[in-house]
Amino acid sequence: MSFRFDPQTVYVFLICGHLFTVVLLSAYRRSESRDSLISAFYVAKLLQAAAWTLMVLKECLDERLVIALANTILLIGTALEAAALLKMHGALTVRARRLGIGVTLLGVLTFNGVVWFYNYEYIRIVVASVFSAVLIAPPALKLLMEPRATALRRLMGGLYSFVAAALFIRAGAASFSGGASTVLSASVSQNLFSISSYLTMVLANTGFVLLAKQKSDEELIRLASVDDLTQIWNRRTFVSKATVLLERHARRKLPVSFLLFDIDGFKGINDTHGHDIGDRVLREMSMVVRRQLRPDDLFGRYGGDEFAILLPDTSKAESILLAERIRVAAQGAYTLSIGVLTFVPQSGVDLDQIYKCCDLALYEAKRAGRNRIQRAEPHFGESQVSASLHNRERLHV
Ligand code: GH3
Ligand code: MG
Repeated sequence: MSFRFDPQTVYVFLICGHLFTVVLLSAYRRSESRDSLISAFYVAKLLQAAAWTLMVLKECLDERLVIALANTILLIGTALEAAALLKMHGALTVRARRLGIGVTLLGVLTFNGVVWFYNYEYIRIVVASVFSAVLIAPPALKLLMEPRATALRRLMGGLYSFVAAALFIRAGAASFSGGASTVLSASVSQNLFSISSYLTMVLANTGFVLLAKQKSDEELIRLASVDDLTQIWNRRTFVSKATVLLERHARRKLPVSFLLFDIDGFKGINDTHGHDIGDRVLREMSMVVRRQLRPDDLFGRYGGDEFAILLPDTSKAESILLAERIRVAAQGAYTLSIGVLTFVPQSGVDLDQIYKCCDLALYEAKRAGRNRIQRAEPHFGESQVSASLHNRERLHV
């Protein structure tokens, strides 16, 4: 069975699809902030709708002029769409931007050169397809290859890669045939082009919006999870991640170590040098400590100048070594007192109880002169809790 898409019908579908996207994005941009990602995509869709409209009007206007203009606009629209996809992944570097502009300019000049000086349809097809594929391939591969990509990103990467491959096949078929059908018949090549153009549009309509939404959700989750000042986990996230980690270690019966530390005389730093310098101390100290940790170690700000670290699969000796490394690394304009607890967690263990044991050790370290490490005992009982609170109150009287 052989079938062929009527180009005029395909163009009309493409115009409608792009225009619907433009209308939806206009409504979205009215109520939401004009983020440059959505704006780039919006302009890309507008240009693509204009290009396909010109193609429909080909017969009523000067054909050569329409082909030149429509393909120029299409190439610029494709470049903008590729740029929006790269920007979404933080991959729109200055180099990528320059390369994209260079490829687009070269594509526009080559295509117009062909139309005005060497106007063969198969050469036009080769030039337009190759340049479009070269623009789409980098974001397509980026989406597909990203190590921790979500299923949506991989799917989008796969579909965009299919579009890029279809364009290369179209170019190959056109250049091999030299106008006459050989490797792929003209209708197969045209069908491939129609399908890939339609897919690009459907992808753009739904996939891009979903991806943009996924990205803004990820950003919101990140903002809600990290401490604004130090950019490490905030208390809520630390507790929730630590709870999961403790359960995992309870099942495997592996030891974990909990470090609770606090800057010595931090109030004095604030009072003497001001709150801004105090903030800087908190930021710098967090960076210094982070550099001492392994990728799987959990580091969070409990509040004020108090911080916690949960070290998975870490013995007593290892935890003391690390605590000492942190104490020495941070030592300078300020010092740290550290409480350290090592234990094999039981299922359902309460992080609050662990915190209270460590808090007691931290108090001991402060009382013994500060700038030191104090080992905590794993007594998760009521008496420890009240003793901790009692001691804390006494220290600050
Ligand atoms: P100690 O050695 O006993 O820990 O004495 P300290 O002066 O450090 O006392 P404490 O730990 O209780 O002081 C914490 C201070 O941290 C109190 C508060 O004003 C200050 N602080 C809390 N959050 C922030 C913050 O985000 N920025 C700044 N600059 N200061 C903060
Ligand atoms: Mg302090």
